[in-house]
Amino acid sequence: MKKLIYLIVAVIILSCKERQQEENNIPSETKKETTAPTTQKEITDPKETEVWDPEPKAITFNEHNVPSDALVLFNGNDIDQWVSAKDSTHAAWKINPDKTMTVIPGAGDIQTKKNFGSVQLHLEWKAPDVVVGEGQGRGNSGVFFQNKYEVQILDSYQNRTYANGQATAIYKQHIPLVNATKPNDQWQTYDIIFHAPKFDSDGKKTKSGAFTVIHNGVLVQNHIEILGSTEYIGPPKNDPHGNGPIKLQDHSNPVHYRNIWVRELD
Ligand code: MG
Repeated sequence: MKKLIYLIVAVIILSCKERQQEENNIPSETKKETTAPTTQKEITDPKETEVWDPEPKAITFNEHNVPSDALVLFNGNDIDQWVSAKDSTHAAWKINPDKTMTVIPGAGDIQTKKNFGSVQLHLEWKAPDVVVGEGQGRGNSGVFFQNKYEVQILDSYQNRTYANGQATAIYKQHIPLVNATKPNDQWQTYDIIFHAPKFDSDGKKTKSGAFTVIHNGVLVQNHIEILGSTEYIGPPKNDPHGNGPIKLQDHSNPVHYRNIWVRELD
């Protein structure tokens, strides 16, 4: 009889151990399900997830679709927002009767009088009226942010060059996702979001800058990291700097511009 009792006790202990082992082998996800549900209050009223403040400021648009909170850098009336990049004297590009302006080859780069940090920039450009040259020699200009970071402007319509140097390339750093360039008889739009890099007080870069570029309505640079200054020769540099002007390049080709405006993001 005693033996039988011992046997029954041993079987009970063994089955308990097996059960414990099985429980230990249950995946954690399943275990969670066996625990008591949390007592989060169920939301049934749609009003409970509505947020009313702060209310975004309403802006308006003028006849050229310029938002009312933008700073107009060029609207065809004058070139007062710009100076020569070389010596800060008068910006000697040509203002045309149709409210456009054209690079005068040899006149030099022009830049804004004002310095900027992170911005949204809109500009419209058109390649030279006569197609001459090829590669980097055809309709070359460029827009620089903080005097260091170039988004390439180039007549890249049926005009092959190195991919990280064609229109909307972050010059020698990032190839555009597609080539959205139109023929030279059509105006083109660039909408650019530029996030400036950050540096600490020791001059060390603490946060890279970033570009998003939309060319003729098409996303071509999707929040890419700026690796440093866009150098013609050699790798990018990361010398510390603060805000800087927006610059348009004279690359010896008569590229046209119109409707340039900027919104500051910081
Ligand atoms: Mg260029």
